[in-house]
Amino acid sequence: MKTAYDDTNIFAKILRGELPAQKLYEDDATFAFMDIMPRGHGHCLVIPKAPSRNILDVTPDSLSAVMATVQKLSRAVVKAFDADGVTVQQFNEPAGGQVVFHLHFHVIPRFDGVSLKPHSGDMEKPEVLAANADRIRKALNDA
Ligand code: 5GP
Repeated sequence: MKTAYDDTNIFAKILRGELPAQKLYEDDATFAFMDIMPRGHGHCLVIPKAPSRNILDVTPDSLSAVMATVQKLSRAVVKAFDADGVTVQQFNEPAGGQVVFHLHFHVIPRFDGVSLKPHSGDMEKPEVLAANADRIRKALNDA
């Protein structure tokens, strides 16, 4: 199976500044922002800037850069929300549960006894996303 990257996907538009996002972190190779339909308090996403559809076509260099940012964001969300743990998720192709076709990792703070909400469920209120993003950015700055 080989499917081409399509640069009209939502995350490519966010990277190009054509759609808004609650930005958390950016470096030369990666970008992190809040998920608008969070599965838990503080759910965020980490993507490479280089175009790749998913884990099947990403270059090792781009993947390494993304994983370093996933670790940064994982530590930041645990600190920001005093979380008990963190779940990192990543889906590939429709059969693998992927909905947006630009590689991304989900970073979701976890709390003892609290289950994840459904995938791509309810939209979060913009003011809640903004407040959570502020806490994560502060944790990143304090790191
Ligand atoms: P996946 O492709 O990993 O199955 O899921 C895509 C994820 O992107 C979902 O968690 C969904 O809530 C999130 N998402 C979908 N559209 C947008 C959007 O326009 N902005 C942001 N920030 N997240 C989105």
